[in-house]
Amino acid sequence: MSSLALDLARSLIRCPSVTPEEGGALAFLARTLGAAGFAVERPVFSEPGTPDIENLYARIGTGSPCLVFAGHTDVVPPGDAAAWRHDPFGGTVADGLLYGRGAADMKGGIACMLAASLEHLRAHGLPRGSIAFLITGDEEGPAVNGTVKLLDWARARGERFDHCLLGEPTNPSVLGEMIKIGRRGSLTGKLAVHGRQGHVGYPHLAENPIPGLLRLASALIAPPLDAGTAHFDASNLELTTLDVGNPATNVIPAEARAVFNVRFNDLWTAETLGAEIRARLERAAEGARYTLDLLPSNSPAFLTEPDAFVDLVSAAIEAETGRRPALSTTGGTSDARFIKDACPVIEFGLVGQTMHQVDECVAVDDIARLTAIYGRVLTRYFAVGMP
Ligand SMILES: [Zn+2]
Repeated sequence: MSSLALDLARSLIRCPSVTPEEGGALAFLARTLGAAGFAVERPVFSEPGTPDIENLYARIGTGSPCLVFAGHTDVVPPGDAAAWRHDPFGGTVADGLLYGRGAADMKGGIACMLAASLEHLRAHGLPRGSIAFLITGDEEGPAVNGTVKLLDWARARGERFDHCLLGEPTNPSVLGEMIKIGRRGSLTGKLAVHGRQGHVGYPHLAENPIPGLLRLASALIAPPLDAGTAHFDASNLELTTLDVGNPATNVIPAEARAVFNVRFNDLWTAETLGAEIRARLERAAEGARYTLDLLPSNSPAFLTEPDAFVDLVSAAIEAETGRRPALSTTGGTSDARFIKDACPVIEFGLVGQTMHQVDECVAVDDIARLTAIYGRVLTRYFAVGMP
């Protein structure tokens, strides 16, 4: 049982690092990594209109292969702290569970990576290669001054990475269930249909935009965009709202709006999907006057093809949990979508059942087992001389 990982997790949870606040979490990591011999950098990135964000990069060793542990120390707000059974920033352990904001997403995962690395260095000495940490404080926020800039910064310094393990909570309910080997892309669109306001008793003097909106919205959701691919579910377009906002019963409104979001697989890019959406609207328009606003997307679909590294991590998980993890691309987006441009990246962490919820918690046993899994990955990775 690694109590080091639990201690680290509790220390991190006690840092109130709600995005964009650093809250002492990165300072704690910097001290701990620095004491273990890592060279630690704390670059701060800024952008007009967004808060300055602190980040952390640490590396021990200069050679390859370089295995990178990635994650974020920022957390979503606790909401009503009084609704929590335990202080969201207390790091309380009760009945075998560690409570606190970030316990699952993802200070717990970072604590396990850190403990596994420190224990590996203690047992084996310097790695035949490098171990690095890429930690941002801007994952739960706009994600503008976080991983994207941290990767650019590292690239400019000549840092080269071979493989990345991101510690997001990938398991739906039991540790060992699921590795994420990719993520779907995301594209949001806003559709407005324009008409002319008028009296419902005199419809010939008005132009009702609602029938046009219904026609266009129906064309967007059917037929299916695709049937899925080898590693991805079918792409899905979800209407998230239809709005007219008309309080009167005797007025034909001037405008009707819809918003939709598409989670798309590796058959599409934001560009090809945008073209398909425009074509569907054009075919269904029948004279309706409309405008489509596709929001800029920085979330492409991506896949890390299952390879020796995926096998190595899967084997480590199976050895500790008895479960062969599913290789999944489900769920929301993550910073892996940026890291994939630097090196192959896969995600495996704790159980995510309570993330972003009141009473966020993880099993203390899982913290020990995840640390052991990461430890096996490190040992095997440097023993076989990946890649
Ligand atoms: Zn997260």
